Amino acid sequence: MTGRMSTHRYGRLISALAVTVALGASSVAQTKVVAPPNKYSVQDDVKLGQEASAEVRKQLPMLNDNRVDDYVEDVGQQLVAAIPAEFQHREFRYSFDVVNQKEINAFALPGGPMYLHRGMIESAKSEGEMAGVMAHEISHVALRHGTAGAGKSQAPAILGTIGQIAGAILGGTAGAVLSTGSQIGAGLKIASYSRDFERQADILGAQILARAGYDPREMANMFKTLEAQGGGGGPEWMSSHPNPGNRYNAILNESKSLRVQGNANTGQFQNIQARLGDMSPALTAEQIARGQGGQGGGTRPTSTSGRTVRVEPPSTSYRTQQPADFLRVSVPSNWEEVSSSGGVTYAPDGGFFRGDNGATAFTHGVQIGTGPGGGNLQRDTEALLNGFLRSNPDLKRETGFQRDNIAGRNGLTTMLSNVSEVTGQQERVALSTVHLPDGSLLYVIGVAPRNEAQTYDSTFRRVRQSMQIAQRR
Ligand SMILES: [Zn+2]
Repeated sequence: MTGRMSTHRYGRLISALAVTVALGASSVAQTKVVAPPNKYSVQDDVKLGQEASAEVRKQLPMLNDNRVDDYVEDVGQQLVAAIPAEFQHREFRYSFDVVNQKEINAFALPGGPMYLHRGMIESAKSEGEMAGVMAHEISHVALRHGTAGAGKSQAPAILGTIGQIAGAILGGTAGAVLSTGSQIGAGLKIASYSRDFERQADILGAQILARAGYDPREMANMFKTLEAQGGGGGPEWMSSHPNPGNRYNAILNESKSLRVQGNANTGQFQNIQARLGDMSPALTAEQIARGQGGQGGGTRPTSTSGRTVRVEPPSTSYRTQQPADFLRVSVPSNWEEVSSSGGVTYAPDGGFFRGDNGATAFTHGVQIGTGPGGGNLQRDTEALLNGFLRSNPDLKRETGFQRDNIAGRNGLTTMLSNVSEVTGQQERVALSTVHLPDGSLLYVIGVAPRNEAQTYDSTFRRVRQSMQIAQRR
């Protein structure tokens, strides 16, 4: 048994060597990429990216479609696995989410969170083209372009206005208002990368594509596809990723030195595009700026404010629900699942509102969602909570973090008060968090009117304790 295994291993080693020799003899060497100097630590990247990511999630409407999200995540993780070892940072956690926005854009934040606009997926001609943009974005993250070139006392340029938030954490000054770049939400802007960084991201992106099993020329094709759209200046994406000159040919040239390793194509691209095509149209930046369909600040369902709400008390019988393939939770049997902009909400009849503008709110029930995690539960929870507090001036913290049993794991719960955007009355909010096996953050938000808080506190506790997290997602 062992003998056969080692023979097999040597066999593979020899054939791999033979391939390398053959390649070396026949082809040009691939371009060596060197990450630019950076005064920030890798941990700073992670922290800045998480802060910015929390803000993004508040300002932009997430698509929240499991099928599409899983697909993009699958493609993304194949690319992440192909990042050359010298550019892998153990602390980074790449995540891939789809924003329900029409404009053709995609952006990645330091440390790994990436957001793809639905318009980007819809405009790509193939999975390889979509992967091309993703590999380019991953390269900016891996090379730490978002923080490179900024002094320790300045906010990193790439974050633009997001940097104002991040600056407070690093003790730096707020980011300057940038005249170029890409608007990614009401108050957020991604500054342009320099042409040098663009050149690097194109080259490393091509190398990552080939290593992952995609034809690197697809990235060049995607840039052609992009240039053909969005009128004279090209789509949104082009304003933060300017053409360093001769882009198309530079990528084709690099591709000649690369060997595509295997075939990463999932074969799902057409299905995913068809699925998106069946949904109601993606929102435009203007609709989002007017607060239509977003979440958090400025997205109140205006047609419902000042309402009187009457709902049945939570049933004492519970039923098990499965909001995601890795999660089970028991909720009172008179609560229904409603999909909302922030995650999955379980609410009683009459306790959930969808405004004319598509924004959602609930007065009674729980919302379950996920966010980025960086390893320290209290810090991750702070980041999430700070995002909530910033977008909602009525939200106030009432207690510190208390250890809590969530899904049989060590979690944290903190109590907050708020003014209901539906009724205008005081309400109680219980925020609980726990890490998922992959390190990301799972949160549960229980909401009830202040005068019913006692009844609901025990309901929320029971819901939290009933949760079961699968070991593998
Ligand atoms: Zn770029």
